[in-house]
Amino acid sequence: MSARVLVVDDVEVNVRLLEAKLSSEYFTVITASGGPQALALVQSERPDIVLLDVMMPEMDGFEVCRRLKADPHSADIPVVMVTALSEVSDRVRGLQAGADDFLTKPVNDIALFARVRSLVRLKRMTEEWRLREEVYGRFDNVIAETRRAEDMSPARILLWEENSFAGDRIAEMLQGVASAVLRPSAPEQLREVVDASIDLLILSLAGQQDALRLVAQLRGSEAGRLVPILLVADGEELPRLAKGLDLGANDYITRPLDRNELTARARSQIRRKRLQDRLQDNYQRSLALALTDSLTGLYNRRYLMAHLDGLMARAAENTEGPAVLMLDIDYFKRVNDNHGHPAGDAVLREVASRIARHVRAFDLVARYGGEEFVVVMPETSLAIAAMVGERLRNVVAAKPIALGDGQGELEMTISVGIAIAREGGDGPTAVLQRADKALYEAKGRGRNCVAGSIAEILPVSQAS
Ligand code: GH3
Ligand code: MG
Ligand code: MG
Repeated sequence: MSARVLVVDDVEVNVRLLEAKLSSEYFTVITASGGPQALALVQSERPDIVLLDVMMPEMDGFEVCRRLKADPHSADIPVVMVTALSEVSDRVRGLQAGADDFLTKPVNDIALFARVRSLVRLKRMTEEWRLREEVYGRFDNVIAETRRAEDMSPARILLWEENSFAGDRIAEMLQGVASAVLRPSAPEQLREVVDASIDLLILSLAGQQDALRLVAQLRGSEAGRLVPILLVADGEELPRLAKGLDLGANDYITRPLDRNELTARARSQIRRKRLQDRLQDNYQRSLALALTDSLTGLYNRRYLMAHLDGLMARAAENTEGPAVLMLDIDYFKRVNDNHGHPAGDAVLREVASRIARHVRAFDLVARYGGEEFVVVMPETSLAIAAMVGERLRNVVAAKPIALGDGQGELEMTISVGIAIAREGGDGPTAVLQRADKALYEAKGRGRNCVAGSIAEILPVSQAS
């Protein structure tokens, strides 16, 4: 992982020192000697992380950080404040300005590398989600949405601290942040309760149990893969902390614990978790939108084509099918003309639902066009397909359809055309064309009937 690090400090020696350390670990280093230059470089160089000095003459680090975090285009870039001050109040000020972490000078190598790696990893993950969003062309919406919705509703926090006094104290400090602090009594129990509803896991390194092993196990499991982990450690435990961060923990805090720092760090992890959840939701929603028809909830034409293509490619040598049924509502235009478009929509939904409820789970039902539907049935012969076609024709014709809005109900019928994929033969488009041709034939015979592309084999059903 060759991350780009922007080092900002007004003292040349400090810049060179950090540059040397980071270059030795193969990071790419960009440098700035003041706030305004740093802001410009962030725009032009797009670093993966910013190491920011606090005390600078023109514009201090807090201000630089605030500006970076206020701009949607740089808000996701992690900022680490580097300062000679080790005052807790300064840390809190930095975290309030949106800083992701703090390092004190002289900067400890382990803390530096572990921190940079861990923050860059988080940034990459966020980027990945954003990229997927972008594919669906909704990037600007998502930026706006994620910036707006600073969702800080109370969080579900899982706390692992063997010392019950220390645990009580942490739980008490988290009161303003948490809706619930769950305190499992054994590692097995902890692993059991970890799921997507947990917003933050706080793990104390003190105690008999090997907390680092827990981190590794959680990161390797589906349920614990994405839960933010905040480690709690004593100052002397730096190497173990570094290990923990390498294993995938997101942040740490050292004792003696400061209430403001703990809540600030907890909040910033919870914020990230929720951003991540939201991006994931959006992604799944846009996936669903891209593949389904919003009126009927059925798959859309795009999905149908992909599905049929895959199905035909996989169809075994000596099996029949897949069978394709094309169904079209008869005289549908009249519904719109006589009762209005909403009534037409109600009919479409009901016909779609009747079709979907009368095929097998592994058959695919799609809305092919306005009032046309397609059913794809794997490994199905013409005789079976004809039976299903007849069944579907019947479930639509058997019972009138409610138009909604007190407009009563209407008897509706459908016509059905059937085609079977030829062995080693044509592709999806050709099969659909043949089904369409059969449908046209059914319409020609007077509608409310089923026709197959091989008319002599298929018995023609005709409504009485
Ligand atoms: P036929 O028996 O030959 O199939 O006649 P038809 O009237 O059903 O067929 P036609 O293709 O002439 O008309 C289909 C109509 O479906 C035209 C179009 O306005 C309407 N339509 C297409 N999509 C929708 C929709 O989403 N909602 C509503 N309400 N109507 C739609
Ligand atoms: Mg029609
Ligand atoms: Mg039509």
